[in-house]
Amino acid sequence: MSGTVIIGAGLIGASTAYALARRAEKVTILDMQDAPGKGASEANGGMLTPSMADPWNSPGVWRDLIRYYGRADAPMVLKTKALPSLAVWGLKFLAAANDSQYWRATALNVRLGLFSLEVMEQWRRDADLSYDGATRGTAKIYRDKQAFRIGREKAERMQALGVVFEPLSPEALCERQPALAAIRDDLAGAVYFPKDESGDAYKFTNELLRSSYELGACAKWGASVKRLVKKNGRVSGVLLDSGEFIEAKRVVIAAGAHAPRLAFQAGVSLAIKPVKGYSMTFSAKGLDAAQRLRFPIIDDDLHAAVTPLGERIRVAGTAEFAGFDESLDDGRIETLRRMLRAILPEQADFLEAGELFRWSGLRPMHAYGAPWIGAAPVEGVYLNVGHGHLGWTLAAGSGEALAGEMQGEQAAFDLSDYKA
Ligand SMILES: Cc1cc2nc3c(=O)[nH]c(=O)nc-3n(C[C@H](O)[C@H](O)[C@H](O)COP(=O)(O)OP(=O)(O)OC[C@H]3O[C@@H](n4cnc5c(N)ncnc54)[C@H](O)[C@@H]3O)c2cc1C
Repeated sequence: MSGTVIIGAGLIGASTAYALARRAEKVTILDMQDAPGKGASEANGGMLTPSMADPWNSPGVWRDLIRYYGRADAPMVLKTKALPSLAVWGLKFLAAANDSQYWRATALNVRLGLFSLEVMEQWRRDADLSYDGATRGTAKIYRDKQAFRIGREKAERMQALGVVFEPLSPEALCERQPALAAIRDDLAGAVYFPKDESGDAYKFTNELLRSSYELGACAKWGASVKRLVKKNGRVSGVLLDSGEFIEAKRVVIAAGAHAPRLAFQAGVSLAIKPVKGYSMTFSAKGLDAAQRLRFPIIDDDLHAAVTPLGERIRVAGTAEFAGFDESLDDGRIETLRRMLRAILPEQADFLEAGELFRWSGLRPMHAYGAPWIGAAPVEGVYLNVGHGHLGWTLAAGSGEALAGEMQGEQAAFDLSDYKA
């Protein structure tokens, strides 16, 4: 029987593939797209942020949902037509929005996020990965004093989990990040997270696959998996929509927002729904050095991030509960433009003149706030899914931890916690 088939060539599938290939496992990656990294991993916010490990369903999230409901320019939009498909998931999402589950998921994500940074460092040493990566930290900016106080308190609580932070006055922030000088007087303060990283997730996904091929892995594009095939109670392969059967000793489901259907065939009922986000990417070539961002900025008030990626700058944000609709809504693009102008007012004209592309993607949002990683009840099937807004942050650690478990290695930490 052949080796391991991985369904999905996004950040999570690619990380799992590379981690397995490093262990001399025979790996075949399948994706229904015509190339790797074309799902949620294509043009995300580009940040690896254990500092943002808290799930979106914080206690009281329902107040935000009500406040934003019907507002086209809100950072969080609930589409009425998607409501029926969200009912069961939505109840689970809201039920998990309590203090104990919120902090439990936060702790799990921080642990995996910090482990991911260690793994990234190792992988960078071992393979020549070119992905506009930077290890200069991130800063979250606050526009009112109350929000800044709450942000600092949250950072203090996360410090106990291993997240390092430094509160900054607007002046101190602008010394480190002169590009924000124009909004200094609008700010109440910032929290700087020196361990956070950034980089282009699409390039990284492709680089990891290239490195995996060098280790013997292979891939097949346009390969949409219809179902898992089982024999004598264990998986024996997958059947593609084309009718082709691909034999496998083991199957890893890393299918992002599409994972629930396949996971169900492996005996796992996943509470994962797509949550759409948008990004716009601009060329920063020719922008004065003083006007360039040195590290990513997350605006707490706007729920937006602006990230430097080599010679480019990306603004990303917004959360739309709209099912699997990936169309680009003009109103949301306008919201992103406003976010860019609010964070980089002096650079916005220059950047908009050099717009490279706009994008939307579907975050695979798990109602319980942390990913599902590990063996499924059907023998030979494994899941690496539900990374929500943190897939880039958690990718390397998730791939490494799962590959270790599949090979029976002593775990860096207990993966059974990641099966809620
Ligand atoms: C706007 C936006 C900004 C974001 N910013 C950040 C950020 O700054 N930091 C961060 O950590 N995270 C961020 N995220 C989240 C992160 O991008 C996702 O969590 C991550 O990309 C999920 O990776 P994945 O591999 O699970 O899913 P995907 O990248 O979607 O990959 C899944 C793959 O599976 C394939 N597939 C699905 N079903 C099948 C099937 N039946 N057969 C074959 N192939 C199949 C799909 O084609 C797809 O290629 C952001 C997301 C968005 C949308």
